[in-house]
Amino acid sequence: MTDLLREAQRRAEAYRSEISERRVAPTPENVARLEHLAQPLPDAPTDPVEVLRLLDDYGSPATVASTGGRYFGFVTGGSLPAALAATWLASAWDQNCAFRIMSPVASRLEEIASDWLRDLFGLSPQAGVGFGTGATMANFAGLAAARHALLARAGWNVEDQGLFGAPEIRVIVGEEVHISLLKALTLVGFGKARVTQIPADSQGRMRAEKLPPLDDRTMVCIQAGNVNTGAFDPAAEVCARAQEAGAWVHVDGAFGVWAAVAPARAHLAAGVAAADSIATDCHKWLNVPYDCGLIFVKDGTHLRNAMTFNAAYLEATPEREPSHFTPEASRRARGVEVWAVLRSLGRKGLVEMVERNCRQAARFAEGLRSAGFSILNEVVLNQVLVSFGTPEQTRRIIEEIQRDGTCWCGGTEWQGRIAMRISVSSWATTDEDVERSLGAMVRIARGVLSGR
Ligand SMILES: *Cc1c(COP(=O)(O)O)cnc(C)c1O
Repeated sequence: MTDLLREAQRRAEAYRSEISERRVAPTPENVARLEHLAQPLPDAPTDPVEVLRLLDDYGSPATVASTGGRYFGFVTGGSLPAALAATWLASAWDQNCAFRIMSPVASRLEEIASDWLRDLFGLSPQAGVGFGTGATMANFAGLAAARHALLARAGWNVEDQGLFGAPEIRVIVGEEVHISLLKALTLVGFGKARVTQIPADSQGRMRAEKLPPLDDRTMVCIQAGNVNTGAFDPAAEVCARAQEAGAWVHVDGAFGVWAAVAPARAHLAAGVAAADSIATDCHKWLNVPYDCGLIFVKDGTHLRNAMTFNAAYLEATPEREPSHFTPEASRRARGVEVWAVLRSLGRKGLVEMVERNCRQAARFAEGLRSAGFSILNEVVLNQVLVSFGTPEQTRRIIEEIQRDGTCWCGGTEWQGRIAMRISVSSWATTDEDVERSLGAMVRIARGVLSGR
C-alpha cells in the first residue's frame, strides 16, 4: 500500500505541477491514445502500480486542464490545494455519509460547514442543508421541498399520494431559466413545458413587473447568476411579492450565489437570502473537486419531509441524519472538502477569490474591447460575452482558440448573437494567465479576420 500511494502522490504532484504550462485541451493524438486503455477485460489480476501507470500514461494527457488557470469554459472551478489534499485523506477514510452512525466525522463536518455557509449567506439557523452532487440535484431537492410544502398546505401528501389527482401547482420561471432547472422540473413531475415563462431584459434578468398575480399554489423559480451574462433576477422584488401571496421562491444560484459573500458584489444577490430554497454548486466557484452541490431550504423541515425515509434497521435519532436532506442515501463525504476549503480560505480568502475572478473578468472585457471587439453583456460578475464579428467569424475564432491550447472558451448564442463565453471561476487563474489568454485571443482573432 505504501509504495502504491507514494506512486499515486508522485504522479498527482507531477500532473498538478505541469498543468500551468501544458495546453488546455488535449491534442487529438492524445485523445486517440485512450484506446490503449480499451483492451479486453483481463482474466488475471494486474498490479495496482501498473494500473496507475496506465491511467497516468494514457489518461493524464487526455484530460482537459480545467484545474489549471486558463480554462474559461462553461462555469468551471478548479480544486484548491486544501480541497485536493482533503479529498485524498477522505478517500483513504472512505466514509459513507448516509447516517451519523456510519460516519460521525462526515456527519459532523457537514453540520459545521452548514453553519459556516448559513452564516456566509445570511441564512437562519433553521435552514436545512443538503449536500448533493451538483446544482442539478440541488435544484431537484429544492423543487421537491417546494412540492412538499405547497401541496401539504393544500391538504395533499405528495410523498404518499404522488401527483396524480393532486391540486395543481403553478410553476413560474424566467425566460432565461437554466436547462438543469427544467430537467429538475421534469424529475419532480411538474413538467418543463407546463411552466409560465416570464420575459427577460437585455441582460437576461426576469422582468418582475411581468409576473402574474401570485398565490399560495405557485412556485417562482429565479436565478442568481445567468450562465451567459452573470446577471441576477431581481430576488428582493420577487421574494417580497411571493411572501405576500404565500408563494414559494426557489433560487438557482449555481455560481452566482457566491457573490453574496463579497461586499463589492453582494448587491447583485440582494434578496436571495429571503427565498424559500436556494441551490448552489461547490465544484464551481468554491473550487472543491467534483462533485458537490448544496441545497438550502429556509424551513428545513420541508426538505427533511421531502427526503426522509425509514426502515426497521435504521434507528430514529433526534440528530441530523445527512441522508434525510438529500435524494441519495449512501454517498461520499462531501462535507469534508467543503469544510477544508472554508477553513483554509477563511472569510477573507473566499471574498478575495470571488473578487479576483470578477476583476479578471472585467480585465478580459476591457482588453477585448480595446482590441476592437464587442462585449455583449454588462460585466457585473465573472462572465464575459464577446463577439468577434459575424457569426461565422466568431465561430471560427472560438474553434481556433480551442485548437491553439493556450486557453479554452466555449461558444454560445446570446439574444440572437453568436458569442464566445469567458467564465472566470478558478482559484488558480493568475493575472498572468489572464494576460496570456487575452494575448492569444486577440492574436488568433486578428489572424482569422485578416485571413491569415
Ligand atoms: C452549472 C449550472 C447548473 C447545473 O449545475 P451542475 O453542477 O452541472 O448540476 C445549474 N444552474 C446554473 C445557473 C449553472 O450555472
